[in-house]
Amino acid sequence: MIEEKGILFVLSGPSGVGKGTVRRELFEQDNELKYSISMTTRDRREGETEGVDYFYKSREEFEQLIEDKQLLEYAQFVNNYYGTPRKYVEETLAAGHDVFLEIEVQGALQVKENFPEGVFIFLFPPSLEELKTRIVSRGTESQDLVLKRLREARNEIEMMDAYDYVVVNDRVESAVEKIQSIIQSEHCKRDRI
Ligand code: 5GP
Repeated sequence: MIEEKGILFVLSGPSGVGKGTVRRELFEQDNELKYSISMTTRDRREGETEGVDYFYKSREEFEQLIEDKQLLEYAQFVNNYYGTPRKYVEETLAAGHDVFLEIEVQGALQVKENFPEGVFIFLFPPSLEELKTRIVSRGTESQDLVLKRLREARNEIEMMDAYDYVVVNDRVESAVEKIQSIIQSEHCKRDRI
């Protein structure tokens, strides 16, 4: 089988749906996939590590990265910038590895425009009520930010049709299993002798 380039997988969906948890569990089980660590201007949360969870940047540094076209996509989300380093993604794919992005919806749509051969997976909450409970119970944010995240989540859900796959995150293990099946079937689709 000849597979020259890796496949770009993009996991997206509303804030609070559990993208981070699903992604971490997926990476516990899959050591072939390469995770693209994002850049962000938001403050580091307790327990997060520079270069593992994010590369933390000042607004000025981030805007310079935008100007220098070093980001594959970027978005402003709840008053902060988030973006994907272009070089890492391009080089890792070219070296034949699959790359996995976990990003919000505006960014995923930009990737789709520039990278239509990517595989786009929308993680869907079991219900909006459940999503609200998850965002509130995370407890890391002020009331004002919680409301902003919820408003954003409603807008993001409307974008679902642009995706190749929808996975309902009712249980983390089952969402991870579905994503693994998607990864396998995308490889089967592209493998040629
Ligand atoms: P958090 O602040 O909770 O870590 O992330 C907020 C949102 O930003 C989440 O929906 C997360 O998936 C998204 N995000 C993380 N990295 C990136 C990125 O590089 N680009 C974009 N567009 N969104 C990102």
